[in-house]
Amino acid sequence: MSQVQDPLLEQAKTLKRAKDAVYQATYRKAHPTEIITRRAVHYQAHRVKIIAHQVAYAQSHKEKIAAREKVYRDVYPDIIAARMAAWRARHTEEIKAYQEAYRLAHKTETVKYQAVYRKSHLGAHSLRESQRRARKQGNGGSFTSVEWEQLKDTYKQRCAYCGKRTRLTMDHVVPLSKNGLHGSSNIVPACKSCNSKKGIYCPPPFQLALSLQLSGQDNETLRVSTGKL
Ligand SMILES: [Zn+2]
Repeated sequence: MSQVQDPLLEQAKTLKRAKDAVYQATYRKAHPTEIITRRAVHYQAHRVKIIAHQVAYAQSHKEKIAAREKVYRDVYPDIIAARMAAWRARHTEEIKAYQEAYRLAHKTETVKYQAVYRKSHLGAHSLRESQRRARKQGNGGSFTSVEWEQLKDTYKQRCAYCGKRTRLTMDHVVPLSKNGLHGSSNIVPACKSCNSKKGIYCPPPFQLALSLQLSGQDNETLRVSTGKL
């Protein structure tokens, strides 16, 4: 049998609830410190119970929590970024110490990883790097990774200066710093050693090396003809 509700009583209850809410809000505004203190005391006194409750809740409401967190992240990305930045700023020393400890504990893996990364990203990196420099200097020209692969094939995967078949870097014949164009007409593959030796000065004639290579002479002849190692 359903209980018959007294409309007057219901109205009174609603009024009481509204009154209480106003009272509580006023109290919270007037006594912020007391509230914080009381909460802290309560937390300390019931810490174990509270934490256990929170853990149990987190365990049984995983999906609900994840969904709520996702919504929050989507709606307030700036707040989260700011909070994380603030946290990082407060913990710079700890972060540094942690990173240093991690590096030390994982020294071998880190070195190995970096070597593998460099090896697999060298071409892409040097291409990106020269494109960046060319753009920066406004020299004009364009050079794609496909063109770079074609150019290396043209040189039979050899350094245009010494003829060595080795890992090749992109060398601007007229350096970008001297307004050299960032395009296939001004780029040759060069080994790291030749590329760095050349510096920003005028390059040695590489066309000879190219013509020799294209005519099919072997590496030894090529080195002798160009007067290089
Ligand atoms: Zn070389």
